[in-house]
Amino acid sequence: MAVVPWLPALCSACSLVQLLPLEPGQVHTQPCRSCGGQCSVLPGEMYAESDAPLFARIEAPLRPMVLPPRTLQRVLGLRRVIDFLPPLHFLLPELGLESRPALERTHLVRASGMVMAILGARLRSLQ
Ligand SMILES: [Zn+2]
Repeated sequence: MAVVPWLPALCSACSLVQLLPLEPGQVHTQPCRSCGGQCSVLPGEMYAESDAPLFARIEAPLRPMVLPPRTLQRVLGLRRVIDFLPPLHFLLPELGLESRPALERTHLVRASGMVMAILGARLRSLQ
């Protein structure tokens, strides 16, 4: 049996960012776990069901924080700089940002990918 990937998704109703399973061929995720609203998948890595509690634990304290776009851009900026400068791609494994499936990564590296997904969603919703 194939493992169903769990992907970061943003609820359009309550703005909760959460990990939800997405079966191959499916376009829409399950409804929001908090309010039942419709969620859209965010760019980012694939996770497993076992990653969902960690994702929720990271999302919860970030949620009430007011993060100005400038702060979010700073946090996400290094990743973008590296994306645009292929000679610096050697830094990706160092920073835990390489595009290996999240399932193969360490706990800390998975967590950093989750933070990126959550903050990226916040920044996009502000723009
Ligand atoms: Zn919701």
